[in-house]
Amino acid sequence: MIIVIKPNTPPDGIEEVRRHVVGLGYEPRLIQGVQRTVIAAIGDETEHPSLETLKGMPEVENVLPIQKRYKLASREFHSANSVVHIGGHPLGQGAFQVIAGPCAVESLAQIRESARDLSAAGVGILRGGAFKPRTSPYDFQGLAGKGLEHLARMKDEFGLAIVTEVIGVEHIKRVAAVADMLQIGARNAQNYHLLEKVADCGRPILLKRGMASTIDEWLSAAEYLMVHGCENVVLCERGIRTFETATRNTLDLSAVVVAKQESHLPVMVDPSHASGNRKLVLPLALAAIAAGADGLVIEAHPQPLEARSDAGQQIASDKFKREIIEVIRPWVELAGKTLNP
Ligand code: PEP
Ligand code: MN
Repeated sequence: MIIVIKPNTPPDGIEEVRRHVVGLGYEPRLIQGVQRTVIAAIGDETEHPSLETLKGMPEVENVLPIQKRYKLASREFHSANSVVHIGGHPLGQGAFQVIAGPCAVESLAQIRESARDLSAAGVGILRGGAFKPRTSPYDFQGLAGKGLEHLARMKDEFGLAIVTEVIGVEHIKRVAAVADMLQIGARNAQNYHLLEKVADCGRPILLKRGMASTIDEWLSAAEYLMVHGCENVVLCERGIRTFETATRNTLDLSAVVVAKQESHLPVMVDPSHASGNRKLVLPLALAAIAAGADGLVIEAHPQPLEARSDAGQQIASDKFKREIIEVIRPWVELAGKTLNP
């Protein structure tokens, strides 16, 4: 950790901070610049009390980490791009996947129609929520176990891999029995207990970025999954909360670039939840490809206007091939990647 001393702090003030660093069990190294003095505190933070408490001293301007708080997720640890296999479909390092399906599984007929249209469009991985984390308790909460059964049938009938969300520790086993990849949604992206418990489910995990998470917090959430046993983590940028109201969220494409630089994990983009508006899905998808995303997560529904959740953002599944897949294909190829291998 680096402890930045306030300008014009007298020598006995600096000495006071130094004494505290020693008192907390660290070795202090004083670095005296022309205008600034900093103290590098050497020691393992997992074995000593946190140096953050020094922020409360009048002489201290800031306490900054010199090491990143994530290791297993970082490129420093693993320099090559990781490839994650989702039910046999590769994602990452040139393999570009479009995961598509309705926001929620609403009925067997609805998910079957989605599965039929999307597999005809060349999609190999079907999404659909059985457990829905809804903002209002009066909104449709998903079909729960019945939804999982319907998804399992889609796997049998169409050979599709399945991605579905897990919202509670008590559902992990049931969800992992059906899902080829489990989704941790934006609302649970910092539910550390759930992250710890889901990590050893034996399946890859799609980690959405929390709507108020910094990139560092998002990668630290990935680190939770990795340190607790999940090697196959996929990051998904789905828009963050800003002051902007014209879109449901603000798609942070710079986060895609930063996440790819900082981490070896595949990074997907969800333009559906980012925009909340089906007219914006395609342009944002193209921008995501240009920004270096490894794949897209897009909501599609057989009758979008009748959808029980996220009706405004879902693409008509029977138009998915023509309006999404065929339009993005040349852009994916231009980026040197293969679409839905
Ligand atoms: C979803 O994928 O349906 C969903 C709820 O996404 P998010 O967690 O990104 O809001
Ligand atoms: Mn949704």
